[in-house]
Amino acid sequence: MENQSITELAKSLRAKHVSSVELAQIYLQRIKQHPELNCYISVTEEFALQQALAADVMLAKGEGSLLTGIPIAHKDIFCTEGVKTSCGSKMLDNFIAPYNATVVEKLNRAGAVMLGKLNMDEFAMGSSNETSYYGPVKNPWALAAVPGGSSGGSAAAVSARLAVCATGTDTGGSIRQPASHCGITGLKPTYGRVSRYGMIAYASSLDQGGPMTRSAEDAAVLLQAMAGYDDKDSTSVDQPVPDYSAGLNQSLQGVSIGLPKEFFGEGLDAGVAATLQAAVAEYQKLGATVKEVSIPNLKLAIPAYYVIAPAECSANLSRFDGVRFGYRCQNPEDLLDLYTRSRGEAFGKEVKRRILMGTYALSAGYYDAYYIKAQKIRRLISDDFKQALAEVDVLMGPVAPTTAFAAGEMIDDPIAMYLSDIYTIAVNLAGLPAMSVPAGFSGGKPVGLQIIGNYFAEQQLLNIAHQYQQITDWHQHIPKGFE
Ligand code: GLN
Repeated sequence: MENQSITELAKSLRAKHVSSVELAQIYLQRIKQHPELNCYISVTEEFALQQALAADVMLAKGEGSLLTGIPIAHKDIFCTEGVKTSCGSKMLDNFIAPYNATVVEKLNRAGAVMLGKLNMDEFAMGSSNETSYYGPVKNPWALAAVPGGSSGGSAAAVSARLAVCATGTDTGGSIRQPASHCGITGLKPTYGRVSRYGMIAYASSLDQGGPMTRSAEDAAVLLQAMAGYDDKDSTSVDQPVPDYSAGLNQSLQGVSIGLPKEFFGEGLDAGVAATLQAAVAEYQKLGATVKEVSIPNLKLAIPAYYVIAPAECSANLSRFDGVRFGYRCQNPEDLLDLYTRSRGEAFGKEVKRRILMGTYALSAGYYDAYYIKAQKIRRLISDDFKQALAEVDVLMGPVAPTTAFAAGEMIDDPIAMYLSDIYTIAVNLAGLPAMSVPAGFSGGKPVGLQIIGNYFAEQQLLNIAHQYQQITDWHQHIPKGFE
């Protein structure tokens, strides 16, 4: 049962092979059996069983959607009414959200059953899930390795069958990179496709929620429920949501794939490169054509992102001041002491580093030199993608330079950690949609293929991933011990 896809489970539920309550119990039991991964911050058992009961009532009436009764878990960045929403931080360890994020609301309405809230890097800042206040998450494929970040709890949970599917967010790679490291399918939608309302803000011009699933077919179902215009989010785009599942059977004959030469240069691990070459060869078998393209300003993506994202985070995180919500220090002497000690005691090291960098980059005298310059680079990078995507339909390349690295390997070297985001970050700066699709293994650890499309080309990306998953079975491999 725990290996069935969303569509298969929807059939099993309707055929009464299993009830939604039984399905929730199977997953809750698995979660209890695997505390070693540390992927859940909160398990909402009672809530799950209530939702499952309601789902069974709907199903008995012949109502509901494909997601009705399907166990899901949310990255702990999405506000969930009445349920702790920590964002992986001590700052929000006592925060019970008073309302649901739009994404959560939509998935509740679709009948999905929430198992709990998933671990993540603190305020989504990190690439390894080691910055969480709740401790690191482990990679189900290799317990000594990181699961990736910041949606590491989501990726590990889906990979280890501790949820059928999960939500994640991607500001600079946080859906795609953990998906790649844990061997699952992750999609970062076009900026504006999925509402950010109730999704705790890291860098507002880059943040985007998306599905993390076992297959492209499941991702299509989940994105369908998540996407759409929301008048509560001024950057959400009012554009019709296509029927993603209906677009999954298009031939790839004549589809042109661009391989940006900067994605395959120095720094890319040989095992990852070989795996990706084999994946591209599969696409050629499916009728796609391949050509080299260029994103000449790719190397500027990391410096630009690590000015823009910290600048935005320094503004967004100023709301955590010990007054309105979240952590408050003991016995403050005065208002300034309240602010400084509350923030000093509740934010972790990486979050503080980002706030300091961002405040510096936005300060008078440095604003033009850093922030404005970074915004100009952002435009250059968008233009590079525009040009490349005028030549080909989609781009393919690595998600990360290596497979999942060892826990502890980079946590004390922030620059090395930042550099590992090289293939994902540029996509966020441009606002484009992109996926990570399981493409094989190197040294026993999963390798993801990144597929980048034009604005609002999610349907095309999902189909391109699905066609590959029809002729390969990398997405069906299960980590040992989690069968
Ligand atoms: N690793 C990147 C960062 O630390 C991206 C994180 C994300 O996408 N949320 O900022």
